[in-house]
Amino acid sequence: MIVIRSAGVKTGFCRPTGWQDGRKTVSWGVGISLLLISAWPMNTPSISSRLDAIRHKIDAGERLDASDGEFLFRADVDLHEVGRLANAIRERKNGNLAYYNLNAHLNPTNVCIYRCNFCAYSRDEDDPDAYVMDDQQIFAEAAEADRAGCTELHIVGGLHPRKPFDWYLGIVRLVHEAHPRLHLKAWTAVEIARFAELAELSIREVLARLIDAGLGSLPGGGAEIFDPAIRAKLCPRKIDADAWLAVHRAAHGLGLRSTATMLFGHIENAMHRIGHLLRLRALQDETGGFLSFVPLSFHPEATQFGHLRRTSSLDDLRTVAVSRLMLDNFDHVKAYWISLGLGTAQTALAYGADDLDGTVREERIHHEAGSTTPQCLSAEALRHLIREAGRMPAERDTLYRLVRRDGTAWETC
Ligand code: SF4
Repeated sequence: MIVIRSAGVKTGFCRPTGWQDGRKTVSWGVGISLLLISAWPMNTPSISSRLDAIRHKIDAGERLDASDGEFLFRADVDLHEVGRLANAIRERKNGNLAYYNLNAHLNPTNVCIYRCNFCAYSRDEDDPDAYVMDDQQIFAEAAEADRAGCTELHIVGGLHPRKPFDWYLGIVRLVHEAHPRLHLKAWTAVEIARFAELAELSIREVLARLIDAGLGSLPGGGAEIFDPAIRAKLCPRKIDADAWLAVHRAAHGLGLRSTATMLFGHIENAMHRIGHLLRLRALQDETGGFLSFVPLSFHPEATQFGHLRRTSSLDDLRTVAVSRLMLDNFDHVKAYWISLGLGTAQTALAYGADDLDGTVREERIHHEAGSTTPQCLSAEALRHLIREAGRMPAERDTLYRLVRRDGTAWETC
């Protein structure tokens, strides 16, 4: 396979030459079979013995360290073997279940003062396609999500130069009062930190006010890659890793659960990815507040990194698998189909992932950056993807309670 021959062994990332476009190498419906029939290089004796040592550690319930993680990222280490190790953990934690939820995204504005170099979504206030939703639009989107039977509304957006904290707080209150059953997963750590600055409040006070208004949990955005040198190139104005982790620590301290993410496949290397995972693992040891981890593959199209190639499906699968192995204290690893693509997300259910995320009505952020997936999927389509992967679909709510459903009516059980 060309992909394997041209992979960067040192960085561990598969970087094939002759890349054609932003699409993934594995398409929906054929991903698993293509990967399973591919001729894979045999591990050398030294790789095999290192893999054996890692397998023994896992079997003995020992934690993998940074050098194990960097080894597993090497492209000359059999991906199937790494996937098998990750799959064993995934099945130990979640059996044959693969989760999904009915959710919708609300992005109240794309105007953002930060203009991160990797972001294709944000705009300046005077750009022709800049937008700010008014209360009626926000209300209508939330009502539509509720009518469609969604259990969750995921709210994130830009940091508008003239919107005070009260505007963001008001969105949570408005939606929660009108649709109390919708779980509001709202505002990234970056937004929370900005609110604290704007309102001259502590992070804890900001979170307490949002909880009082109806906030249900925090999404994991804004983590990108924690390494400061990489972060300075990707998003120089954003809060640093310590501040991102401090927001989640404070949220967990107030009883909120949250999600963790990592944006990979840009200018980072395996060491940066592992460093990121280890910092998340350390906070999870401390608080236990993360619900799940979501590896997000970078879409360079329409960003200042447009000269970069997209990650391959092989790199995506390896990243899912290594994440599953390193984050031994996380219950769930998501294969976010919007970011990975349908085929890779489906295949990832055999490489450590146990959750496809949701129906995601009207995703905007990844699509501005060139995602070629649909902007939403029906619950039936998600269940089909899961069954085709040999897993049992389980609808969950944000907190991973199972959902019993009759059309758009639902209850947790
Ligand atoms: S990634 Fe977030 S903070 Fe950065 S420019 Fe885009 S919307 Fe703004």
